Amino acid sequence: MPQTKMILVVNAGSSSIKFSLFPEAGGGAAGGGLIEGIGVHPQFKAKFSSGIAGQPFEKTWSDGKTLGHEHFYGFLLDWLAETLPEIAVVAAGHRVVHGGTDFAAPVRIEGGVLEALQRLVPLAPLHQPHNLAAIQALASRAPQIPQVACFDTAFHRSIPARDQLYGLPLSFAEEGLRRYGFHGLSYEYIAGALPQVDATAAGGRTVVAHLGNGASLCALKNGRSQSCSMGFSTLDGLIMGTRSGSIDPGVLIYLLQEKGMSVKELETLLYKQSGLLGLSGVSADMRDLLASDKPEAAQAVEMFCDRVAQQIALFAAQLGGLDAVVFTAGIGERSAPIRAGICRRLAWLGATLDDGANDAAQMKIAAADSRLGLWIVPTDEESMIARHTRALLDTNRQDQRAVAQRTTGA
Ligand code: ADP
Repeated sequence: MPQTKMILVVNAGSSSIKFSLFPEAGGGAAGGGLIEGIGVHPQFKAKFSSGIAGQPFEKTWSDGKTLGHEHFYGFLLDWLAETLPEIAVVAAGHRVVHGGTDFAAPVRIEGGVLEALQRLVPLAPLHQPHNLAAIQALASRAPQIPQVACFDTAFHRSIPARDQLYGLPLSFAEEGLRRYGFHGLSYEYIAGALPQVDATAAGGRTVVAHLGNGASLCALKNGRSQSCSMGFSTLDGLIMGTRSGSIDPGVLIYLLQEKGMSVKELETLLYKQSGLLGLSGVSADMRDLLASDKPEAAQAVEMFCDRVAQQIALFAAQLGGLDAVVFTAGIGERSAPIRAGICRRLAWLGATLDDGANDAAQMKIAAADSRLGLWIVPTDEESMIARHTRALLDTNRQDQRAVAQRTTGA
């Protein structure tokens, strides 16, 4: 029986590996899964469409604590070969957080690309090493599989040069201290979907609100990124699950100087202990805050909505007006009260919500008389990676065909 060619999409984190499989021929995900708890209690879960495998899979490791990431990439490839012999992995596409200023588009891993990406580790020390380790592990286990890196920063390379700068001496920008922006694969997916959703917004001025555990906003003009609330790092901008968002840099100097915090402690405070978790003392999960009767939880929710609305207003000024707001990711797609809280704060910009449509999480949530388009569009970063990987494989094949034609004189 001929095997179905599949693209393996990998999103590697510090303690988890998310994967999905997409048919090389095109179309949506055929399934996927997750290995989580790496270094603690590793657990594997996978589920596929009924044409591939009827039942979900699960596995745990009793001696799992000592097993590193590399082991699990080997496990994944072996498991796929044994359990799903009717499929063949013909390429891998990776989510890579940082492409710096050089990578404005996805790239095939070859030549000196991996080394160039290693040099960007200091710009994203918490994520980049895990992304690159995944590429290295697959390269050593299956060197015949072409691999593609897709960047969270690439979509934002269209941000005007002046808006990439901080108010630091210019030489710092040359060293790499500039605004990069993140969640680019999500924004690229939404920008691609927008013409079918709202033609005016697609050709005009839109803010996309990617509100998940990590949260950011992107200002789009004619489908191209003009700004992102995340800047040099994923800490900037909105209040997030556990991240502080924008903060007066004087606070950081105070914490280092007066409280004697180490850089590591400061990093942990800003990335892991702040945001909704730190403000509420309850949880980083918006669902828990909405269900809580603690005033601190309610205050954290209000602050989240305040910050999103303020940043949208900032982008409206930057874009010279606003045609639409698009909500996406965990909170954006699933939390009616948060969308309502944000839209209420944007009434002066012409936002009027259709409460029924918002509660039912319909795609169009603007009332008939709303001057601002209001939409829910589910994001799909994995399918964006699959699309890019397919496109780069096709380009490579075309290049090879052209070379073959030239050498045979055809
Ligand atoms: P990540 O940034 O990790 O990819 P997601 O985009 O999946 O995260 O968003 C996860 C977050 O979405 C959760 O932490 C939770 O706060 C929020 N969330 C999910 N479902 C709901 C819901 N029904 N109501 C409110 N918040 C929700």
